[in-house]
Amino acid sequence: MNDFQELYQEIVMDHNRSPRNYGELENPTSFANGFNPLCGDEINVYLKLVEDKIVDITFNGDGCAISKSSASMLTDGIKGKSISDAIQIFESFRQMITRKPGEEFSSEILGDLEILSGVSQFPARIKCATLAWHTFHTALTEKDQSVSTE
Ligand code: ZN
Repeated sequence: MNDFQELYQEIVMDHNRSPRNYGELENPTSFANGFNPLCGDEINVYLKLVEDKIVDITFNGDGCAISKSSASMLTDGIKGKSISDAIQIFESFRQMITRKPGEEFSSEILGDLEILSGVSQFPARIKCATLAWHTFHTALTEKDQSVSTE
């Protein structure tokens, strides 16, 4: 394993063991439920929006290590951001995860989330990694909906 893979393992395992912002939010302004039938991952995302700012975001649910770590890292990366910044991060993350081999992506606004870039090499895990993100996007734009990756 190279350093990047080691770091990846370490960070994913850490977020899986002790997920950040885990639990149901009291009085969320919006909420969405996401399901990935391929793997059985299920994630709920709760948002508290004040004007154009995401003042709080939490998640709960059950799934594989990648789906939970990605959700945990999402909440870490999005909390406190404006809605437009959050949507930019969502678009960059999606571009990074779904890129073709060798394709460049812009990591500037992604910060620690870049560690998940290796997931793009494993098509079966892409839906695990993006589930929380689609659920978040649904909570942000459609409110109180369910989303499935299929
Ligand atoms: Zn999964």
